[in-house]
Amino acid sequence: MVIDIKKLKSSGKSECSFHFECELQSDVITLPDAEFSKPVSVTGRLTLSGKTVIVEGEIEYVLSAHCSRCLTETEYRAVVEFDEEYSEDKEDVDAYIYSKGLVDLTEMVREKVILSMPYSVYCKEDCKGLCPVCGINLNEAQCDCNK
Ligand SMILES: [Zn+2]
Ligand SMILES: [Zn+2]
Repeated sequence: MVIDIKKLKSSGKSECSFHFECELQSDVITLPDAEFSKPVSVTGRLTLSGKTVIVEGEIEYVLSAHCSRCLTETEYRAVVEFDEEYSEDKEDVDAYIYSKGLVDLTEMVREKVILSMPYSVYCKEDCKGLCPVCGINLNEAQCDCNK
C-alpha cells in the first residue's frame, strides 16, 4: 500500500485516487476465532498540501467470526473512514511519517482496523444464545432447563 508521490509531482498533478486490496496479518484481529474472509479493501484520495500529504477514504473489511452468544458462524462487515496527514518531518507528532517520496498506508490502515475491531458480534440482534445448563442453541430449539 505504497503511493509514489514523486510520480504524481512529476506529472504536474496535486492529487490522485487509490485503491488497494491487501492481506493484513491476523494479529490485527482481536476478536476470538475470527479471520478476514476476503482481502481488506482501501479506497481513497491523496492530496498534496504544501509540505504534507492528506489521505482520506474508506477501509472495508469482512470478518468470518462466531456469534458471541450462540457460537454460530457469522459474518461481520465494517467500513472505517480515515482522514490523515503524512509529513516528511520526523518531529511532526500529529502526522504519519513518509520518506523518499513514498507514502506507505500500511501502518495507518492496521491501526484503524485494530481500533474499529468489535468486542463481540451477533448472528442476529435478538440472538437467544445457548442454554447455560444443557448447551442447546435456543434459536433453534427449546429445552426444559428453566422450567
Ligand atoms: Zn447467535
Ligand atoms: Zn437447557
